[in-house]
Amino acid sequence: TMARVAIVGRPNVGKSTLFNRLIGKRLALVDDTPGVTRDRREGQARIADLRFTVIDTAGLEDAGPQSLEGRMREQTDLAIAAADVILFVIDARAGVMPADQAYGELLRRSSHPVIVLANKAEGRAGDMAAMEAYSLGLGEPITFSAEHGQGLDALYDMLKAAI
Ligand code: GDP
Ligand code: MG
Repeated sequence: TMARVAIVGRPNVGKSTLFNRLIGKRLALVDDTPGVTRDRREGQARIADLRFTVIDTAGLEDAGPQSLEGRMREQTDLAIAAADVILFVIDARAGVMPADQAYGELLRRSSHPVIVLANKAEGRAGDMAAMEAYSLGLGEPITFSAEHGQGLDALYDMLKAAI
């Protein structure tokens, strides 16, 4: 049966852009405005010969009665429970933010492998954040660009080893 890979991270880091790239479709759910992705979406992903099911989480974007922290924990717990591998996306241009630290803390408790993607790192924009991302305690981050397809080779290698 197909491995399940969930994409988690705070709003606007590029989760949906990554999801769309992995399933090879251009969907209309990517937007500059945080709050655009409303549902958890699943698709059949492919990198070269590697196939898996990918889940795009809504992150913190859904308004609800719970606190931000509560929603974040709930989404992350759901993703962890539903997936074999977690892709944890941060924005390499913004650097590691308090919300990323909070996700990192939750994800360090996961028994499933977590792969950190320092996204928006095309050019040299993400070098600092990629180094900073080590401090999340989740292993070596991949310097990545979902928009440009940079880092897919490294992601392939890490997924191949994990699933
Ligand atoms: P999500 O909220 O985490 O799902 O983020 P989105 O995928 O909706 O992307 C948020 C914004 O970041 C959009 O304007 C994207 O075009 C932009 N973005 C996503 N990936 C990249 C990337 O690799 N490089 C750059 N420069 N921008 C990106
Ligand atoms: Mg999204």
